[in-house]
Amino acid sequence: MTFAATILTLYPEMFPGPLGVSLAGRALAEGKWACDPVQIRDFATDRHRSVDDTPAGGGAGMVMRADVLSRAVDHALARQPAAPVLAMSPRGKPLAQQRVRELADGPGVTILCGRFEGIDERLFEARPIELVSIGDYILSGGEMAALTLLDACIRLLPGVMGAPDSGDDESFETGLLEYPHYTRPAEWEGRMIPEVLRSGDHARISAWRKSMAETDTRLRRPDLWERHEGARVQPPSGARRQKKER
Ligand code: SAH
Repeated sequence: MTFAATILTLYPEMFPGPLGVSLAGRALAEGKWACDPVQIRDFATDRHRSVDDTPAGGGAGMVMRADVLSRAVDHALARQPAAPVLAMSPRGKPLAQQRVRELADGPGVTILCGRFEGIDERLFEARPIELVSIGDYILSGGEMAALTLLDACIRLLPGVMGAPDSGDDESFETGLLEYPHYTRPAEWEGRMIPEVLRSGDHARISAWRKSMAETDTRLRRPDLWERHEGARVQPPSGARRQKKER
Protein backbone atom coordinates (compact mmCIF):
# COMPACT_ATOMS: atom_id res chain seq x y z
CA MET A 1 0.00 0.00 0.00
CA THR A 2 1.16 3.52 -0.75
CA PHE A 3 1.63 5.89 2.18
CA ALA A 4 0.05 9.09 0.88
CA ALA A 5 1.37 12.43 2.11
CA THR A 6 -0.67 15.53 1.34
CA ILE A 7 1.12 18.71 2.32
CA LEU A 8 -0.79 21.98 2.59
CA THR A 9 1.77 24.73 2.11
CA LEU A 10 2.51 28.13 0.61
CA TYR A 11 5.71 26.61 -0.82
CA PRO A 12 4.77 23.40 -2.69
CA GLU A 13 8.09 23.60 -4.54
CA MET A 14 9.82 22.59 -1.27
CA PHE A 15 8.42 19.03 -1.72
CA PRO A 16 9.67 16.34 -2.07
CA GLY A 17 12.89 18.39 -1.83
CA PRO A 18 15.44 16.36 0.14
CA LEU A 19 12.97 13.45 0.28
CA GLY A 20 13.49 13.04 -3.47
CA VAL A 21 16.97 11.56 -2.95
CA SER A 22 18.50 8.55 -1.21
CA LEU A 23 16.27 6.11 0.68
CA ALA A 24 13.10 8.24 0.57
CA GLY A 25 13.67 9.19 -3.06
CA ARG A 26 13.98 5.58 -4.12
CA ALA A 27 10.86 4.69 -2.15
CA LEU A 28 9.01 7.56 -3.84
CA ALA A 29 10.07 6.34 -7.29
CA GLU A 30 8.94 2.83 -6.35
CA GLY A 31 5.52 4.08 -5.27
CA LYS A 32 5.97 3.12 -1.61
CA TRP A 33 4.88 6.63 -0.69
CA ALA A 34 3.24 9.46 -2.63
CA CYS A 35 3.98 13.16 -2.23
CA ASP A 36 1.17 15.56 -2.99
CA PRO A 37 1.91 19.19 -2.11
CA VAL A 38 -1.13 21.45 -2.30
CA GLN A 39 -0.89 25.25 -2.67
CA ILE A 40 -2.90 26.86 0.16
CA ARG A 41 -3.24 30.02 -1.91
CA ASP A 42 -5.50 28.14 -4.33
CA PHE A 43 -8.17 28.23 -1.60
CA ALA A 44 -8.14 32.01 -1.22
CA THR A 45 -11.15 33.74 -2.75
CA ASP A 46 -10.13 37.38 -3.10
CA ARG A 47 -8.40 39.04 -6.00
CA HIS A 48 -5.05 39.14 -4.21
CA ARG A 49 -5.30 35.47 -3.17
CA SER A 50 -4.53 36.50 0.41
CA VAL A 51 -4.07 33.80 3.03
CA ASP A 52 -3.09 35.94 6.03
CA ASP A 53 -4.14 39.05 7.90
CA THR A 54 -2.97 41.20 10.82
CA PRO A 55 -3.18 39.68 14.31
CA ALA A 56 -6.32 40.43 16.34
CA GLY A 57 -5.27 42.41 19.40
CA GLY A 58 -2.28 43.87 17.59
CA GLY A 59 1.35 42.84 17.52
CA ALA A 60 3.99 41.96 14.97
CA GLY A 61 3.59 39.79 11.90
CA MET A 62 0.66 38.17 10.17
CA VAL A 63 -1.67 35.29 11.02
CA MET A 64 -2.93 32.64 8.58
CA ARG A 65 -6.69 32.83 8.07
CA ALA A 66 -9.01 30.08 9.36
CA ASP A 67 -11.48 30.45 6.47
CA VAL A 68 -8.84 29.90 3.77
CA LEU A 69 -7.06 27.11 5.64
CA SER A 70 -10.30 25.27 6.45
CA ARG A 71 -11.07 25.03 2.74
CA ALA A 72 -7.63 23.55 2.12
CA VAL A 73 -8.06 21.10 5.02
CA ASP A 74 -11.55 20.09 3.84
CA HIS A 75 -10.19 19.47 0.36
CA ALA A 76 -7.52 17.15 1.81
CA LEU A 77 -10.03 15.42 4.11
CA ALA A 78 -12.41 14.79 1.21
CA ARG A 79 -9.63 13.19 -0.79
CA GLN A 80 -8.12 11.18 2.05
CA PRO A 81 -10.64 10.89 4.89
CA ALA A 82 -8.71 8.16 6.74
CA ALA A 83 -5.44 10.10 7.02
CA PRO A 84 -4.90 12.13 10.20
CA VAL A 85 -4.48 15.88 9.72
CA LEU A 86 -1.41 17.25 11.47
CA ALA A 87 -0.45 20.89 11.81
CA MET A 88 3.21 21.60 12.43
CA SER A 89 3.48 23.99 15.37
CA PRO A 90 5.88 24.77 18.20
CA ARG A 91 2.76 24.71 20.38
CA GLY A 92 2.06 21.05 19.50
CA LYS A 93 2.94 17.81 21.23
CA PRO A 94 6.63 17.02 20.74
CA LEU A 95 7.02 14.35 18.05
CA ALA A 96 8.41 11.04 19.31
CA GLN A 97 9.22 7.70 17.70
CA GLN A 98 6.05 6.02 18.98
CA ARG A 99 3.80 8.48 17.13
CA VAL A 100 6.03 8.21 14.05
CA ARG A 101 5.48 4.43 14.10
CA GLU A 102 1.71 4.79 14.41
CA LEU A 103 1.63 7.24 11.52
CA ALA A 104 3.84 5.02 9.35
CA ASP A 105 1.45 2.10 10.04
CA GLY A 106 -1.49 4.16 8.76
CA PRO A 107 -2.66 5.15 5.26
CA GLY A 108 -0.73 8.44 5.19
CA VAL A 109 -0.92 11.98 6.57
CA THR A 110 -2.16 15.40 5.69
CA ILE A 111 0.25 18.03 6.98
CA LEU A 112 -0.57 21.69 7.35
CA CYS A 113 2.51 23.91 7.26
CA GLY A 114 2.30 27.25 9.04
CA ARG A 115 4.11 30.45 8.06
CA PHE A 116 4.25 33.96 9.54
CA GLU A 117 3.24 34.17 13.23
CA GLY A 118 1.06 31.08 13.00
CA ILE A 119 -2.53 30.03 12.36
CA ASP A 120 -5.90 31.37 13.60
CA GLU A 121 -6.64 29.19 16.64
CA ARG A 122 -10.30 28.68 15.69
CA LEU A 123 -9.21 26.33 12.90
CA PHE A 124 -8.00 23.83 15.53
CA GLU A 125 -11.32 23.98 17.35
CA ALA A 126 -13.37 23.49 14.20
CA ARG A 127 -11.44 20.68 12.49
CA PRO A 128 -9.88 17.40 13.72
CA ILE A 129 -6.28 18.59 13.66
CA GLU A 130 -3.37 17.30 15.74
CA LEU A 131 -0.70 19.88 16.57
CA VAL A 132 2.80 18.47 16.28
CA SER A 133 6.08 20.08 17.31
CA ILE A 134 9.49 18.81 16.24
CA GLY A 135 11.27 20.46 19.15
CA ASP A 136 11.62 23.48 21.38
CA TYR A 137 12.96 25.94 18.84
CA ILE A 138 11.33 28.13 16.19
CA LEU A 139 11.56 27.45 12.46
CA SER A 140 10.54 30.01 9.86
CA GLY A 141 7.84 27.70 8.52
CA GLY A 142 6.24 24.29 8.94
CA GLU A 143 7.75 22.86 5.73
CA MET A 144 11.06 21.74 7.27
CA ALA A 145 9.13 20.25 10.18
CA ALA A 146 6.88 18.38 7.72
CA LEU A 147 9.91 17.07 5.81
CA THR A 148 11.40 15.87 9.09
CA LEU A 149 8.22 14.08 10.12
CA LEU A 150 7.83 12.50 6.69
CA ASP A 151 11.44 11.32 6.63
CA ALA A 152 10.97 9.64 10.01
CA CYS A 153 7.81 7.87 8.73
CA ILE A 154 9.07 6.88 5.29
CA ARG A 155 12.12 5.00 6.51
CA LEU A 156 9.77 2.76 8.52
CA LEU A 157 7.55 1.83 5.55
CA PRO A 158 7.76 -1.84 4.51
CA GLY A 159 10.66 -2.45 2.14
CA VAL A 160 12.24 0.99 2.51
CA MET A 161 15.06 0.27 4.94
CA GLY A 162 17.72 -2.19 3.74
CA ALA A 163 17.74 -4.84 6.47
CA PRO A 164 14.32 -5.46 8.02
CA ASP A 165 15.74 -5.51 11.57
CA SER A 166 18.08 -2.54 11.17
CA GLY A 167 15.59 -0.29 12.97
CA ASP A 168 15.07 -2.49 16.03
CA ASP A 169 17.99 -1.35 18.20
CA GLU A 170 17.76 2.25 17.10
CA SER A 171 17.65 5.10 19.62
CA PHE A 172 14.19 5.50 21.19
CA GLU A 173 12.85 2.18 19.86
CA THR A 174 13.76 0.57 23.17
CA GLY A 175 13.18 3.72 25.21
CA LEU A 176 16.97 4.18 25.30
CA LEU A 177 19.59 5.85 23.14
CA GLU A 178 21.41 3.42 20.90
CA TYR A 179 24.90 2.13 21.80
CA PRO A 180 27.88 3.84 20.06
CA HIS A 181 29.18 2.60 16.70
CA TYR A 182 32.70 1.94 15.37
CA THR A 183 34.16 0.75 12.09
CA ARG A 184 37.56 0.16 10.50
CA PRO A 185 40.36 1.20 10.75
CA ALA A 186 40.83 -0.62 14.06
CA GLU A 187 43.24 2.11 15.18
CA TRP A 188 42.71 5.76 14.32
CA GLU A 189 44.81 8.64 15.72
CA GLY A 190 45.97 6.27 18.43
CA ARG A 191 42.42 5.32 19.42
CA MET A 192 41.36 1.68 19.29
CA ILE A 193 37.94 0.22 18.65
CA PRO A 194 36.84 -1.19 22.06
CA GLU A 195 38.35 -4.64 22.51
CA VAL A 196 35.02 -6.33 23.13
CA LEU A 197 33.76 -5.40 19.65
CA ARG A 198 36.77 -7.11 18.11
CA SER A 199 36.42 -10.24 20.29
CA GLY A 200 33.84 -12.04 18.14
CA ASP A 201 32.06 -13.04 21.39
CA HIS A 202 28.46 -12.20 20.57
CA ALA A 203 27.13 -12.58 24.11
CA ARG A 204 29.77 -10.19 25.45
CA ILE A 205 29.17 -7.74 22.60
CA SER A 206 25.47 -7.72 23.23
CA ALA A 207 25.95 -7.22 27.01
CA TRP A 208 28.42 -4.38 26.33
CA ARG A 209 26.00 -2.68 23.93
CA LYS A 210 23.15 -2.91 26.41
CA SER A 211 25.28 -1.46 29.17
CA MET A 212 26.53 1.38 26.92
CA ALA A 213 22.97 2.19 25.84
CA GLU A 214 21.94 2.42 29.48
CA THR A 215 24.93 4.47 30.61
CA ASP A 216 24.70 6.92 27.70
CA THR A 217 20.96 7.38 28.20
CA ARG A 218 21.41 7.97 31.95
CA LEU A 219 24.16 10.55 31.38
CA ARG A 220 22.92 12.32 28.24
CA ARG A 221 19.16 12.05 28.55
CA PRO A 222 18.14 11.82 32.20
CA ASP A 223 14.55 12.53 31.08
CA LEU A 224 14.48 9.39 28.90
CA TRP A 225 16.24 7.35 31.56
CA GLU A 226 13.73 8.29 34.22
CA ARG A 227 10.84 7.28 31.97
CA HIS A 228 12.58 4.01 31.09
CA GLU A 229 13.24 3.15 34.74
CA GLY A 230 9.73 4.26 35.69
CA ALA A 231 8.19 1.92 33.12
CA ARG A 232 10.25 -0.96 34.49
CA VAL A 233 9.29 -0.62 38.15
CA GLN A 234 5.62 0.24 37.69
CA PRO A 235 2.92 -2.34 36.88
CA PRO A 236 1.58 -2.36 33.30
CA SER A 237 -0.64 0.62 32.52
CA GLY A 238 -3.75 -1.60 32.24
CA ALA A 239 -3.42 -2.70 35.86
CA ARG A 240 -2.93 0.89 36.99
CA ARG A 241 -5.97 2.11 35.11
CA GLN A 242 -8.17 -0.61 36.62
CA LYS A 243 -7.11 0.41 40.10
CA LYS A 244 -7.98 4.05 39.40
CA GLU A 245 -11.44 3.18 38.12
CA ARG A 246 -12.41 1.31 41.26
N1 SAH B 1 4.83 32.67 16.53
C1 SAH B 1 4.89 31.25 16.64
C2 SAH B 1 5.97 30.66 15.73
C3 SAH B 1 5.66 30.75 14.28
S1 SAH B 1 6.88 30.02 13.27
C4 SAH B 1 5.17 30.86 18.09
O1 SAH B 1 5.91 31.58 18.76
O2 SAH B 1 4.66 29.82 18.54
C5 SAH B 1 6.02 29.78 11.77
C6 SAH B 1 5.58 28.36 11.48
O3 SAH B 1 6.68 27.50 11.51
C7 SAH B 1 4.60 27.75 12.50
O4 SAH B 1 3.26 28.08 12.21
C8 SAH B 1 4.84 26.26 12.32
O5 SAH B 1 4.11 25.73 11.24
C9 SAH B 1 6.31 26.20 11.95
N2 SAH B 1 7.18 25.85 13.08
C10 SAH B 1 8.06 26.65 13.71
N3 SAH B 1 8.69 26.02 14.69
C11 SAH B 1 8.22 24.75 14.71
C12 SAH B 1 8.48 23.61 15.51
N4 SAH B 1 9.36 23.63 16.50
N5 SAH B 1 7.80 22.47 15.23
C13 SAH B 1 6.89 22.42 14.24
N6 SAH B 1 6.60 23.49 13.45
C14 SAH B 1 7.24 24.63 13.67
